[in-house]
Amino acid sequence: MESAFKASVDEAVYNKTAIDLAGEMKSSFPPFTGNKVNLEKHILQSLAEEEDFDKYMMYIQHPRKLVESFIKKAVKEYISTQQDKVDSILKKNVTSTMQLLSRAVHSATEKVRSQRGNTDMWMGEFSRLLKDHLKFNTNCLQNFSDIDNFDFLKEELDKGLETVSEKMGSLSVHRMEEFSVRPDEILIDQLCSSCWAQCPFCNAICTNTLEDHSPDDHCVPFHRPYGISGWHYRGTVEFSINFCSTSVASDHHFYPHYNSEQSIPFKLYRTAGPKYAHWSITPDESKLIYWKWFVCRFQKELEEHHGLKFQNRGEIPSEWKSHTKEEAIKSLENM
Ligand SMILES: [Zn+2]
Ligand SMILES: [Zn+2]
Repeated sequence: MESAFKASVDEAVYNKTAIDLAGEMKSSFPPFTGNKVNLEKHILQSLAEEEDFDKYMMYIQHPRKLVESFIKKAVKEYISTQQDKVDSILKKNVTSTMQLLSRAVHSATEKVRSQRGNTDMWMGEFSRLLKDHLKFNTNCLQNFSDIDNFDFLKEELDKGLETVSEKMGSLSVHRMEEFSVRPDEILIDQLCSSCWAQCPFCNAICTNTLEDHSPDDHCVPFHRPYGISGWHYRGTVEFSINFCSTSVASDHHFYPHYNSEQSIPFKLYRTAGPKYAHWSITPDESKLIYWKWFVCRFQKELEEHHGLKFQNRGEIPSEWKSHTKEEAIKSLENM
């Protein structure tokens, strides 16, 4: 059997397995079974569990990068911990692919025999029968086309299939990375095709599931204290400790850029430039415990990262310090 042929059979099996595995995870792995907000909740929960400040900053500054790496890691872990499930998907696809090949060999032979055709016709028929299932390259069969006896060809392929079938037993999902279709990439495509616009103040991600939803505004139900993305009182090292959803109802002003000469009233934030114009920030008092806990837990790290201080106007309210990590995680249920 041509090794190129074996390679394209392997690839068909792996690709099908990658697709099935992605489907399996989307129906049974909790972070992937719901909508975008559901995935975000799980990511925020895992960030809290890991307490890794660098990961938090990646999430705050480059959320898509962090989300993609979360998905990749989850798939890797799933493959290594759900070995039985993964093996049975792989085995099922080996069996169905071998049945498909074997049926194609036999149908092609029948047809060519009944129409008294030649090996070219046999080859054409064989490829036609497989083209929807295998990313099948007819070149990999060209060495067979010198054979003018298709009965012999059929025998050779049958024999070859047996060998392929035996070797299939040694396929492993760990080799999946070598193939063109990967389960983590399928999931990234499906789970990350949505709007990634971030709130110009707190960096919260728009929850719209469409990549481009103009003319609808960007929107997120829960904002964060925008000091975490570096906002502070001009000319001081005092963090801003407010949530943007509260500030937009206040009489406070802000400078849209670090070098803006003119400040803008928060109530008119949409007039501050294109970045602000398309955000709908609903004024409310909702403050997720999660972000209060985060600021307290990483106070020192945030101060070092931004070169700012939680002091004076930026002092952390003492109520914020009363929340445990468990409460923080639990508060995500309100999202
Ligand atoms: Zn915000
Ligand atoms: Zn949006």
